[in-house]
Amino acid sequence: MKDTLRHQGLRNRLVNTLIKKGIQDKNVLEAIKRIPRHLFMDSSFVDFAYQDKAFPIAADQTISQPYTVAFQTELLLLKPNAKILEIGTGSGYQTAVLLEMKAKVFSIERQKELFKKTKSFLPKLGYKPKALIFGDGYIGLEEQAPYDGIIVTAGAPFVPKPLLSQLKIGGRLVIPVGDESQIMTLFIRKSEKEFEKHEFGDFRFVPMLKEKN
Ligand code: SAH
Repeated sequence: MKDTLRHQGLRNRLVNTLIKKGIQDKNVLEAIKRIPRHLFMDSSFVDFAYQDKAFPIAADQTISQPYTVAFQTELLLLKPNAKILEIGTGSGYQTAVLLEMKAKVFSIERQKELFKKTKSFLPKLGYKPKALIFGDGYIGLEEQAPYDGIIVTAGAPFVPKPLLSQLKIGGRLVIPVGDESQIMTLFIRKSEKEFEKHEFGDFRFVPMLKEKN
């Protein structure tokens, strides 16, 4: 597991690309500059790690495109020590971005193989989420609620109610909603019952899975 000057150079270029595409949050950009994304991918893809593209990981899943990771993270408006729930741990790359930004992260993955792989991998890079959970993102994680932010990294056919109810007042849910393609959607909890909804552009995610496997 090596991180070389060449990798760092490629990351600086990637960060410049993200700035050109409109990402502004300095902490997000810093996190991406620091994280060796190539180590989150199978070795045959190393050369592609710093292109702004999604890539296959295990179990028919993908590591999200860096722009998408940056865009979603920016929408969370993270403060240090924010308590964040992530749905769809996948490779753990988004988890690492949140941890670099000093969030306390709980992350749920529905596929056992990926869950196990990422659970053993993240600590090797020094990343320590509060908990990685093999479970179902549709129900969230009630026992640790409420959260400052919830980020869903798979395409949601609808907005799961438990995720809205597990937000703090003032908390933010960032979720791509749709079937074929998804509209990036932000919900801000204004009170016990009121949510403000904002919609951003179209994105494409692998779908949220209903069955455990
Ligand atoms: N954040 C990840 C993105 C992985 S793709 C990364 O940067 O690598 C989406 C992930 O969501 C996949 O790993 C998929 O298995 C997982 N997923 C799909 N449905 C889910 C569900 N209902 N609950 C939790 N995770 C789910």
